[in-house]
Amino acid sequence: MSKPVLGIIGGGQLGSMLATAAKKIGIKTVIFCDDQDAPAQNFSDKFICGKYDDQNIIDEFMNAIDIATFEFENISYETLNKINNIKSVLPNPSINKIVQNRLFEKDYINKLNIRTTQYVSIKSEKEVYINKEFLPGLLKTTTLGYDGKGQYKINSVDDLKNLNIDFTKEYILEKLVKLKKEISVVITRFKNQEYEIYDPIENIHEDQILKYSKIPADINEKVLEQSKKYARAIAEELNYIGTLCVEFFIDKNDNLYANEIAPRVHNSGHLTINAYNISQFENHVRAVCNLDRVKLNKISNAEMINIIGDQITIYRKKKYASNEFFFDYLKKETKYKRKMGHLTTLIK
Ligand code: AMP
Repeated sequence: MSKPVLGIIGGGQLGSMLATAAKKIGIKTVIFCDDQDAPAQNFSDKFICGKYDDQNIIDEFMNAIDIATFEFENISYETLNKINNIKSVLPNPSINKIVQNRLFEKDYINKLNIRTTQYVSIKSEKEVYINKEFLPGLLKTTTLGYDGKGQYKINSVDDLKNLNIDFTKEYILEKLVKLKKEISVVITRFKNQEYEIYDPIENIHEDQILKYSKIPADINEKVLEQSKKYARAIAEELNYIGTLCVEFFIDKNDNLYANEIAPRVHNSGHLTINAYNISQFENHVRAVCNLDRVKLNKISNAEMINIIGDQITIYRKKKYASNEFFFDYLKKETKYKRKMGHLTTLIK
């Protein structure tokens, strides 16, 4: 059987790394992105640029591919569904409906008896006053927020005066957890219901943006097993195909809370490219294209630093040791807080 052509919706660094992993195993890729400077076009076999709701562009994309996947979850359900009616989209777009909305997502996780932070739906300023017991807390837009965008820290209702929050949007108010640590679990589920799970990754965020990741995570055995069990339960319940990441909080008493499901490859999993025999990206491609599963093997411990904004100019000039792997996302424009590259270091 000839290998399928894989369409990837979205053209950022995750798309680039998916396309690179696909190429390694002989899968051709087509990137569909609305940004004509999309960095992933440097790594794919074909690039289609246009709006995600443009029917002609969607048709062109569908004609060029056998299977579609995506590198970010906030593509409209309508677009994904249109494509899925003709060519299969994996993971299934119905999953996006759940995770595109923080409220639906947290309700879903709780239904699986997995603990999340305490949260409440907020539709007006008045409702913040009514739900004071969730303060200090983080007010997050239910949709379209990432890397701290659309989030407000509210210590007390007095803060509302200065924050100038747009209450035409819907929010979720989450009680602040006294964080000891943050971890993530990356898992790939295959069509025959087999799994590969990577070791939990310890993450450090700065200004709500991931700055640093490492394996092994410095966590106790119980948390390690529980986090893997939860990630597996979520993937199973979603009947998921591909790579998925669950982000967790750990509080001062070693309680584990699931924070977010990313139905895609994840920034914290970049170190899997160098630290494992098969990366999260290759496993995603293998799963959605229904290729053989290769047993996962950890090669080394590792740490990863995200290179953000104009720090990239320093890293572009550096010389690297044989255990250091610098990834330049080749983004045309350097922007404040923009992820521009990363550096993985293999450690003992
Ligand atoms: P999120 O957009 O939900 O992934 O949040 C981004 C980051 O903000 C997390 O990785 C945490 O560092 C922090 N954060 C979010 N929600 C909470 C919370 N309820 N309690 C403590 N820290 C949080």
